Amino acid sequence: MRKNFRNKSINDTFIKEGNCSAVVVGASLSGLMTGIALSTAGLKVTILERAGAKPRSGAVLQVESGEIDRTKTAKFLRELASGGIRSAEAWSSIQFRLRKEVEADSRIDLRYDARVQTVNQDDNSAWVVSDKGETFHGDILIGADGHRSIMRRYVSPHKPNATFAGYLIWVAIVDEKDIPEKHRPSLNAPKFTMLDGIGDFLLGSIIAGADGSTALGDRRLGWAWYDNTQNDLLRRLGCVEGDVVQHSLYAPDIPEQTLIELAEKASDRWAQPWFLKI
Ligand SMILES: Cc1cc2nc3c(=O)[nH]c(=O)nc-3n(C[C@H](O)[C@H](O)[C@H](O)COP(=O)(O)OP(=O)(O)OC[C@H]3O[C@@H](n4cnc5c(N)ncnc54)[C@H](O)[C@@H]3O)c2cc1C
Repeated sequence: MRKNFRNKSINDTFIKEGNCSAVVVGASLSGLMTGIALSTAGLKVTILERAGAKPRSGAVLQVESGEIDRTKTAKFLRELASGGIRSAEAWSSIQFRLRKEVEADSRIDLRYDARVQTVNQDDNSAWVVSDKGETFHGDILIGADGHRSIMRRYVSPHKPNATFAGYLIWVAIVDEKDIPEKHRPSLNAPKFTMLDGIGDFLLGSIIAGADGSTALGDRRLGWAWYDNTQNDLLRRLGCVEGDVVQHSLYAPDIPEQTLIELAEKASDRWAQPWFLKI
């Protein structure tokens, strides 16, 4: 949300003089990156995150190293996310590096346990109010609050929710030491493997260990199984209503029969090491 408020014109001089401020809602990958980019441009930034400071875990993302980017900021952000090499990275490693950068930046105020409840603007500024009743004003307000975004509800009331993409992703990350030695990929095995299924596919990736080691036995394997065959289940369990995602599929809710069928499908479809019974 950006506006030239009646009493203020946001231009380069105004920003360079350090007069411009931004509030970013959400401190996941997009929110942290946006905060760094805005700070680099000279803005004072407040990032509000509803979750606590405890690091969160995910699986794996493919990241570019930034050679193709034109702007310095884009290059820097990509280098930061990728660790400087085109690779697959643990979601948590990317988040960790972005957080470290944000926490070291005196122009950025990152607040956890700050759930934004209302969004508003007038002729002078835009603002949000948190669940603790605190108000945060900014010249720019950015929504990086993921699916069912409160910011999107304000900016786009006629289409407040993103449309369900029609598939889910089963994600996993496993330490290589926990899989049998005979199934560990060799050191020159491709870092990414894309295996086709029937209406589904698997992206397998080999990434460095949590300590950065790429030695055999120290690495981690990541699975992202894109599956468009579970939509009835998602609707039955209330994860999707109409074409709107309500929440993720909670592990304890997955029916035993679905797990059995998945194991059977996996054994038919994926070669080792991507089919594992642990
Ligand atoms: C913990 C986690 C792990 C993931 N792991 C993977 C992975 O391994 N591979 C992959 O491809 N994708 C993964 N994803 C999917 C994810 O959608 C993308 O990878 C990426 O994180 C999207 O980033 P985002 O910042 O746009 O949205 P999100 O990651 O969805 O972040 C939105 C953020 O906004 C915060 N928020 C929401 N509402 C409010 C509010 N009202 N006030 C304040 N804060 C709010 C949320 O707590 C969250 O931190 C993961 C997502 C999460 C949250």
